[in-house]
Amino acid sequence: MEQDKKYPVLQNLAYCIRETRKAYPKLLAFCLLIILLNCLVPVITAFLPKIVIDGITEGQPLRRLLAVTGGLTAMLAVLSGFRMYLEKLVYWNKFKMNAHFLRLITRKGLTTDYRNQENEHFRTLQNESFASCNGNFSYYAQIYDTVVLFFSNLLGFLAFAGILSTLNPLLIVFLSLTALVSFFLNRRISKWIEGNRDEKAGYEHRMQYVVSAADDVRAAKDIRLYRMAAWLDGIYEKNLKGLLGWYRRYTAKLFGVAAADSALALVREAATYAFLLRLALKGNITVAEFVLYFNAVAGFSAWLGSMLGQITGVQRLNQSMNRFRSYLEYPEHYLREQGKPVGDLKTPKRIELRNVSFRYEAGGKDVLRNFSLTLEAGEHLAVVGLNGAGKTTMIKLICGLTEATEGCVLYGGTDVREYNRDEYYRLFGAVFQDYSILPVTIEEIVAEDDSENADPDRVKQCLEQAGLWDRIASLPDGIRSRYDKAFWDDGINLSGGEIQKLLLARALYRQPPVVLLDEPTAALDPVSENRLYETYDKIMNGKTTLFISHRLASTRFCHRIVLIGDGRILEEGTHEELLAKKGRYYELFETQAKYYREDPGEEADRDEF
Ligand code: ADP
Repeated sequence: MEQDKKYPVLQNLAYCIRETRKAYPKLLAFCLLIILLNCLVPVITAFLPKIVIDGITEGQPLRRLLAVTGGLTAMLAVLSGFRMYLEKLVYWNKFKMNAHFLRLITRKGLTTDYRNQENEHFRTLQNESFASCNGNFSYYAQIYDTVVLFFSNLLGFLAFAGILSTLNPLLIVFLSLTALVSFFLNRRISKWIEGNRDEKAGYEHRMQYVVSAADDVRAAKDIRLYRMAAWLDGIYEKNLKGLLGWYRRYTAKLFGVAAADSALALVREAATYAFLLRLALKGNITVAEFVLYFNAVAGFSAWLGSMLGQITGVQRLNQSMNRFRSYLEYPEHYLREQGKPVGDLKTPKRIELRNVSFRYEAGGKDVLRNFSLTLEAGEHLAVVGLNGAGKTTMIKLICGLTEATEGCVLYGGTDVREYNRDEYYRLFGAVFQDYSILPVTIEEIVAEDDSENADPDRVKQCLEQAGLWDRIASLPDGIRSRYDKAFWDDGINLSGGEIQKLLLARALYRQPPVVLLDEPTAALDPVSENRLYETYDKIMNGKTTLFISHRLASTRFCHRIVLIGDGRILEEGTHEELLAKKGRYYELFETQAKYYREDPGEEADRDEF
């Protein structure tokens, strides 16, 4: 497993500043201004009464007093107003940074080595990263608030420490100590929340599950037929009780800490004010200074308390930032531009799996073990085997989506790992069971490109070969029909079988030398399936094909069949040879065939029909 990044706070801060400078530099200037104003406004507020009292005691004329007080108050009003304006600007513009971070994550997700996408740790990091950048209240939107608050606190703390140091540095020590005790008291709450977070999340998660089941149309049938409503309601109630219990315990904890914290604040204020009063009464400080220090003591404690209180938040943000960067910096191993050019992208070359062993996770089970297989150029190979035998994995290895743990895959005699992987992918037209279709026009889906770049004649030809042309031609917009009703008001929906045909047309459009089909007929009706088999030779003429199917009868049109199981080839040969062998293939074929076999007379009737 890849080690997660562990950058210290300052390095992550520098990273955020760099990214903000790249994407939205104004935000940095806004944040900096807010920090300065956050410090300046309280400092002026603390000095204002002192200045006024000094003026009065010095017997300054009313006009001058009014001018100074009015000027400072007006300045405070302007500065506070400006700060509010900046805060609104930051609030509404944080989404630009969210969008920037989301784009980085999306780009990584789209381009990362495919094998990373199959790695559980990578996927966890990916999910967390997406969750932490989503929305204006997301984790990363908080970075700016947190950083602004932290530096405002720091600057304010230094400014007020400066004011108090002119009185007695011991006062700073005393106030700092009480703030520390208060911090540790409050940390008990954060620790309690941290320790009990999973319990709360569990209740919420299960309640959310019930809520989402209620409006899930797919679940609606089962919920009714299997009378699951009362059961789900019970789950909700049980977890709601659990959640309320959690909050009760939390409130009790909070109350204890709040009481102790208030008592501490009382002691602190009483002691410092008694100290200040004593100094004032002895004449060591003037009334104006008393007011200034009075304000400074309150301000100092508040700044320090807030700064200490932020530590846990900053640590959590830093951890999340490290997870985010671990995802973005997750190592990529496949060669791209640095790899060898593939050369001819039209004529197939020999494909060889040489002593390949493959495991999905280190220490996991071998899906393929010391597996060797050669596909000659232009050969049609069928691969059969039980579920989980490793057939799809084999396809992913051949087309370079994933790589052998041991051994190697060769194309035209060269290890696939040496090629420019992006170019290598262009050799394959593949139809996987788990597919993705963008909500664009049929033409764009088949051509995998904008309609300006698509060749409509070729699109038509591929749809014909895949057996979908009649359906598409009958639509008012033909190949310009947009797929997915959920996306477009005038969009079209396709059945499972029609989607398989569309995927086949897409695989054919790129005129690949190698076609890889993973159960491409599973959702086809028998007529369409039969038609595909009949035309298979013509469609796939001159191409290397690998065809995975559970319907053993469908393998007849392939030159060779391999049966795999236990991570290795169990049997291989033509359909007839394998039947004659009376081995595993024969057993599988017989098991399947007996359900199809009918009375010959009946079959004749049906044929006539
Ligand atoms: P088949 O196509 O023959 O049904 P697969 O190649 O899909 O088999 O899967 C072979 C084995 O590898 C199965 O045991 C399956 O559970 C496991 N497997 C498949 N994909 C993954 C994955 N992404 N992560 C971990 N294990 C996987």
